[in-house]
Amino acid sequence: MKFLPEKPPIFAETLDSLAARLEEINAPAFRARQIMDWLYKKRAATPEEMSNLPANLRAWLGENFDFASNTLLQRKAASDVTHKLLQRLRDGSLIETVIIRAPQEGVGLEHSRKTICISTQVGCAYGCRFCASGLEGWKRNLSTGEIVAQLMAVCRMEDAHSERAKEGLASFDNIVVMGMGEPMANYDNLLAALKLINAPWSLGFGARRITVSTSGVVPKIIQLADEPLGIRLAVSLHGATNEVRNQIMPVNRKFPLEMLLPACRAFSEKHGRMLTLEFILIEEINDSLDQAQALARIARDLHAHVNLIPYNTVEGLPWKRPSLMRQQRFTQELKQRGISVTLRREKGHDIDAACGQLRLQTERAEKNASCAGN
Ligand code: SAH
Ligand code: SF4
Repeated sequence: MKFLPEKPPIFAETLDSLAARLEEINAPAFRARQIMDWLYKKRAATPEEMSNLPANLRAWLGENFDFASNTLLQRKAASDVTHKLLQRLRDGSLIETVIIRAPQEGVGLEHSRKTICISTQVGCAYGCRFCASGLEGWKRNLSTGEIVAQLMAVCRMEDAHSERAKEGLASFDNIVVMGMGEPMANYDNLLAALKLINAPWSLGFGARRITVSTSGVVPKIIQLADEPLGIRLAVSLHGATNEVRNQIMPVNRKFPLEMLLPACRAFSEKHGRMLTLEFILIEEINDSLDQAQALARIARDLHAHVNLIPYNTVEGLPWKRPSLMRQQRFTQELKQRGISVTLRREKGHDIDAACGQLRLQTERAEKNASCAGN
């Protein structure tokens, strides 16, 4: 039996909710802001570090809140640009977070721009046929506190390489919600976490530097469009016709293209910003010129940017990455039609960077080890 904490994670608290808890114990209201300052600007990981708080208040924090909902297990460097982190949650679940560094001229890689890719669920219920995250189904949603703690763990780790960290700002530049899980299926916890790190008393992290990726959960795309925060959207299309999408993404049976595309259009009209269409290239599945032409029509209609991602092979799945020539032929077809398109270079293939793979392998190895031990 795994230990489940009764204490709520400290990283789920807002300034107001913490102030309300402090009021209950007759602590002065200004302490709430001091504590938030320690957590977000000074990156304290324990109450003991909060040196300007009275000892009894530090003890109260430790007794009433969980400061260690996420424990860092591993950091694996893929190439010089991609690092993958594995975090363990209180119930033993594993989640992945990826740090992607963008090489910049005249700046060492350590200090270059960083994008953090976060997970929102343990496993995924959506069952896309090509994806490792869905292979063993859905286990649970991450809580708001676990999502924020995931970000703060990375923030602390990268502080030494960031000038902005000295001003109490985040030590990464962008957040993409493209790790394990379907973010729209954990909408409320995710939004609460993103609003929390957006607040001026925490990281003040701009919503325009946050992108949420979805496999196409239409009602939530519409809900996100109505959020005043202004978060960016990426849609995992992976097929430019219902025929292809139905083959690889079960979500398309519920929300086919004739529902998904109008929702995408409504989103970009409300935001006045380009959305991104993600398209994994899988050999013989969606890499034909017909698909490229259909994709070009969709992208033009939506004024969307297209991100082409050569498929990362997943152990146990039959799908393959197309040859470089086929990838380039597909890209060219879009370019010729005036579409804004990027063919992503491989990021972290050698550390199992495809969504969910590191966690799956670790879980399987742990299961094997415990079986062997019995
Ligand atoms: N559930 C959301 C976000 C997480 S998946 C979504 O589907 O958009 C993040 C991205 O990784 C998606 O675009 C997904 O299709 C892609 N992905 C999953 N498995 C992959 C693989 N084996 N190779 C390349 N990309 C993969
Ligand atoms: Fe879930 Fe996204 Fe993987 Fe599909 S691609 S199974 S929605 S994580």
